[in-house]
Amino acid sequence: MEPVTDTFARPLHDLRISVTDRCNFRCVYCMPKEVFGHDFEFLRRSQILTFEEIERLARMFAGAGVRKLRLTGGEPLLRRDLERLVAMLAAVPGIEDIAMTTNGVLLARKAQALADAGLHRVTVSLDSLDDDVFAAVNDVGVPAARVLEGIEAAAAAGLGPVKVNMVVKRGLNDTSILEMAGHFRGTGHVLRLIEYMDVGASNGWRLDDVVPAAEMVAAIGAEWPLEPVESAYRGEVANRYRYRDGGGEIGVIASVTQPFCRDCTRARLSADGRLYTCLFANVGRDLRGPLRAGASDADLEALIGRIWGRRGDRYSELRTAETRESPRVEMSYIGG
Ligand code: SF4
Repeated sequence: MEPVTDTFARPLHDLRISVTDRCNFRCVYCMPKEVFGHDFEFLRRSQILTFEEIERLARMFAGAGVRKLRLTGGEPLLRRDLERLVAMLAAVPGIEDIAMTTNGVLLARKAQALADAGLHRVTVSLDSLDDDVFAAVNDVGVPAARVLEGIEAAAAAGLGPVKVNMVVKRGLNDTSILEMAGHFRGTGHVLRLIEYMDVGASNGWRLDDVVPAAEMVAAIGAEWPLEPVESAYRGEVANRYRYRDGGGEIGVIASVTQPFCRDCTRARLSADGRLYTCLFANVGRDLRGPLRAGASDADLEALIGRIWGRRGDRYSELRTAETRESPRVEMSYIGG
């Protein structure tokens, strides 16, 4: 099959695979407890794609042009034997890069096995080094030290340099920006500051709670002078900066103030096999049904090609009060 492009000539290059909708955190900007409480109905085991089904779909996506896979959740490390899936995906022809996004709490135990199985890189979410602030964000009282242990274990296993994602919400953890920058400077790991986004329908997003990327870069630059770095490839989400004194790099992901939809090459597969063509989509197309109904490889590839070929998503570029009214899939369900 020929690599496919969408209605804006954006190729299908990256596939984010959610392997579970469950998480051991309740981050207030993603999975607030009030919504994702004890009685929340998560996907049942029978609804979730098996490793064999994920591997088969990954082969179909590779046929359509995907070269980069990212494992996500919920929290992907809650899925048992994840290293077995990594090894299966590492053998898929055409796949050049396998990464994972995790909250890092279970990483210290798993990093070496994942690296041995073929995982290339990890991105770890950490929203503050101040335990009170971090506990207020993750809402399950986990201290930052547990995540830092995971980052060090990942580096020791050869999965570094680690990208450290920090979602910044004004009034919640914006006071932690300089401490985080100071901590990761000179370590080789890359701190990435993410503008708080109106993902899903549960986090009560307000524009006033967004700290613009320019403000975050200015705050860090005032302490340690920065200079911009060219993007390494089309579709790179972060705007990159390096410290002039050689202290390494930071990144900012500015979906609200500097949207990057024009180069978005990412598709998302939910744990129950629905294909989403945008983080802010409201519907996903079912691939599990045809898969379990015996569809051929050619049928599945054609279906993926048709869905992507009709894609016209650019939510962040069109974000208005009106578009914000439209229902959106929960980030925890499609893995950010
Ligand atoms: S808003 Fe949608 S189209 Fe735009 S960059 Fe994000 S995922 Fe891509």
